[in-house]
Amino acid sequence: MKMRKIPLRKCIGCGEQKDKRDLLRIVRTKEGEVFFDPTGKHNGRGAYLCRDSACLEKAFKQKSLQRSFKSALSPEVMDELRQSLEE
Ligand SMILES: [Zn+2]
Repeated sequence: MKMRKIPLRKCIGCGEQKDKRDLLRIVRTKEGEVFFDPTGKHNGRGAYLCRDSACLEKAFKQKSLQRSFKSALSPEVMDELRQSLEE
């Protein structure tokens, strides 16, 4: 029997490795645009976050995204992420 490999990604809030499908994806394009990627399929560099507002706030406070993307997380993107957590 073959084991199915689960793609794990690290949450930028708590730092835990989780199943990619359980995480929210934020993407940074070649052009330097940073936005929330609900489909998880957009081209660019991805950062991942648990579906947990605590992780989102933590990532924001620690500026984790700024560090990995060299680009700030805009308030608009923060709002989008917050909204998607409330759904
Ligand atoms: Zn987390």
